[in-house]
Amino acid sequence: MSSIRSYIRANGMTSLLEVKDLVIKFALRTGEVTATNGVSFTLEKGERLGLVGESGAGKSVTGFSIINLISKPGYIASGEVNFLGEDLARVSDERIRSIRGNRISMIFQDPMMTLNPVLTIGTQMTETLHQHNPQMSKAEARAIALDKLRKVYIPSPEKRLGQYPHEFSGGMRQRIIIAIALLTDPELIIADEPTTALDVTIQAEIMELLMELCETEDMGLILITHDLAVVAQVTQNIAVMYAGSVVEKGPTAQVVADPQHPYTQGLIAALPQSSGHGERLNQIPGMMPTLKNIPPGCSFNPRCPHVMEVCKQQVPSLRSGKNSNLAACHLYPPEKDNPSAR
Ligand code: SF4
Repeated sequence: MSSIRSYIRANGMTSLLEVKDLVIKFALRTGEVTATNGVSFTLEKGERLGLVGESGAGKSVTGFSIINLISKPGYIASGEVNFLGEDLARVSDERIRSIRGNRISMIFQDPMMTLNPVLTIGTQMTETLHQHNPQMSKAEARAIALDKLRKVYIPSPEKRLGQYPHEFSGGMRQRIIIAIALLTDPELIIADEPTTALDVTIQAEIMELLMELCETEDMGLILITHDLAVVAQVTQNIAVMYAGSVVEKGPTAQVVADPQHPYTQGLIAALPQSSGHGERLNQIPGMMPTLKNIPPGCSFNPRCPHVMEVCKQQVPSLRSGKNSNLAACHLYPPEKDNPSAR
């Protein structure tokens, strides 16, 4: 993927998505808090990127901000969300509505939150299509709905169109959500913890399906999850978030095999497969700071086994670690004007 990126940059081509220095704030009655602090990452067409971190790291709010779905009192204070060169942080409400659910689709954790329990799957799918294209005939909408159900391997799709959400298992419901997300042939799918509510075998099936669809439909995918094992299975690149900032990014295989940031190292050491049989699971001591209590300097410093004096005073910028991963950590020398640190 890095060679694709180099090619795209060298030829002046536009990335599918370029998030630049994104700062999201929440204006609370007690004062403003910063939810993301200068988040930057790039996604190319057909690329799968994992946004990983514990709860409260800022990954979901980053995902929602791409389609301008941050609920008030949250807002984008600064930065850019360039989707094929168009800054979605600055377009009109009408323009973002024409992109959201059309060229960019979102998949959420709980299918029952997305599906309407009193409407058949067929009605929900054809209504979605008519919202985006009121001119479309009923027959055409039904044919597209059937095609998408086949793409996500729903058996007997003609019969299933007439059924209600409660008549499907959890895994089947998530397949239907993916089929609905595909209805408008989006260029990008943002999936927020799409398999957390499912058991492990169904989880693996859904992830394989998402990977296959990204390849066959040439879609980009941002997979938001706390689960590094899932990201390792599905994505090519990864951005690890902590307390509202990206603290490490690079090719997934390399980040998982040779993490550079102490937080990523802690996350990987905490995976069950990192502990021997019968051993206690490793954990990162302490808790993620709340938005009101981000410590000065490196936000990870109270939990870091390598903390130094400088860590308590200066916020580390992203820089190369011992491999080509970028890590925001004072253990490595800073790089000035490093465009790849974006
Ligand atoms: Fe640890 Fe310092 Fe690196 Fe932060 S900057 S992760 S405290 S070594």
